[in-house]
Amino acid sequence: MTNLGTDQNPLLVAIVGSGPSGFYAAEALIKSEVKVKVDVLERLPSPFGLVRSGVAPDHQKLKQAIKLYEKIAESPDFNLIANVTVGTDISVKELRDAYHAIIFTCGAESDRKLGVPGEDLKGSYTATEFVGWYNGHPDYRDREFDLSHDIAVIIGQGNVAADVSRILSKTIDELKHTDIAQHALDALAESKIKEIHVIGRRGPAQAKFTPKELREFGELSDCEPVVLEQDLLLNPESEKELEEKSNISSKKIYDLFCEFSKREPDTAKSKKCFFSFLMSPKELIGDTTLERIIFEKNKLSGESFKQSARGTGETIELETGILFRSIGYRGIPVEGVPFNESWGTIPNDKGRVTDSENNVVDQLYTAGWIKRGPSGIIGTNRACSVETVECLIQDLEKLNSSTKKSGAKAIYSKLDIKSIRHINFEDWKKVDTSEIELGEVKDKPREKYTSIHEMLSVIK
Ligand code: NAP
Repeated sequence: MTNLGTDQNPLLVAIVGSGPSGFYAAEALIKSEVKVKVDVLERLPSPFGLVRSGVAPDHQKLKQAIKLYEKIAESPDFNLIANVTVGTDISVKELRDAYHAIIFTCGAESDRKLGVPGEDLKGSYTATEFVGWYNGHPDYRDREFDLSHDIAVIIGQGNVAADVSRILSKTIDELKHTDIAQHALDALAESKIKEIHVIGRRGPAQAKFTPKELREFGELSDCEPVVLEQDLLLNPESEKELEEKSNISSKKIYDLFCEFSKREPDTAKSKKCFFSFLMSPKELIGDTTLERIIFEKNKLSGESFKQSARGTGETIELETGILFRSIGYRGIPVEGVPFNESWGTIPNDKGRVTDSENNVVDQLYTAGWIKRGPSGIIGTNRACSVETVECLIQDLEKLNSSTKKSGAKAIYSKLDIKSIRHINFEDWKKVDTSEIELGEVKDKPREKYTSIHEMLSVIK
């Protein structure tokens, strides 16, 4: 048998998911010493995952990662097979038959649950839905958010909560030259929200924002950040945490909260964004629609860096008709691939997929949020994907198969039989160019197509 990874017998790899970890895995494979052919399968006609539909529209700089992904896509060893859902249009078994190896980089598309009564009342939304909606993701474009209330509540103090509350805090002038979806811009223009409450279950020393994201709240044109001085008192363990040099980001966050608490309120601004701590929602109250939230006050317990929130029994209520639960994403299982229900991830050892007995499953690999959980910034995924690809290359001999693998050819013939239309990178570039042209008229970086049908009709 010819050695695998040579011109005569290239290593055929399918990557499932075209977000950052998928592109970084493709890059690592293409740059490796072995000859590869990489097919990236994507459910939507558009690539780039959360860089397109998660990164906030007013954070265009972060979207520059796409330039690198476009470079990777130029490689003759890279091929996009988009508008194809693995698990439905193509099974994992069919991928295993067609490729030497498959890397699952399908991210974390669902949400963690709060697990409190009333969580599913109308008016209680996940951050994922709202983010997808303002970013024009086809799955969420038809969602409706009732922005007619005075008060909005966001549960969670991570960067997604920062994005959601910042979008609610900004004026239309601050948003209209971004790539925010037009339907969201129109709805936000009618928003009556005046108070945004961003609520953490732990203290100000444990908030998970990054300093840059929090600082932006001090620079909004019509919204004041509000932090009460008495909420910034720290227990000794939190003080210890902030003294730790490696915890510089939390110290910066805490200093920003202190700065916000000392600000002279700008009465000319029509909105306020409150940051509050040590509160957990206990129950969401309403008949069919959210009317108020009962919070339990918390105190911290445990040693520094391991402190958790414990309820004190004391409760307070907040009247609101709109809540965004921003407490972290969660992966969803793919049929034919092991899944850890508790973690919402694919079990793995450095990227090699493992089964319930911790044995490595041949041919299957994983990278990104579905491998390690939803943490880190875009660039964090690069090291994660490189680790997986290094394991895959180490397994080269084991991956060499006596049966011939035909890669994309086999997949195209399966898709053709089922009349499933697949999109390549050149097709996508037509959509991309058209979106940019539509945006130019409005002085926006792009106007996104928000339905699969619209995208496919541009490609013709
Ligand atoms: P995250 O950073 O993990 O924050 C989740 C927040 O939810 C934390 O404050 C957490 O509190 C809280 N939480 C979790 N379970 C809870 C519960 N049951 N009740 C109340 N609060 C709960 O997650 P994320 O905001 O979804 O962000 C995901 C990743 O994407 C992060 O690494 C983030 O930095 C990244 N991201 C980056 C950017 C950017 O760079 N601009 C933008 C968006 C997202 P505890 O700390 O107590 O668990």
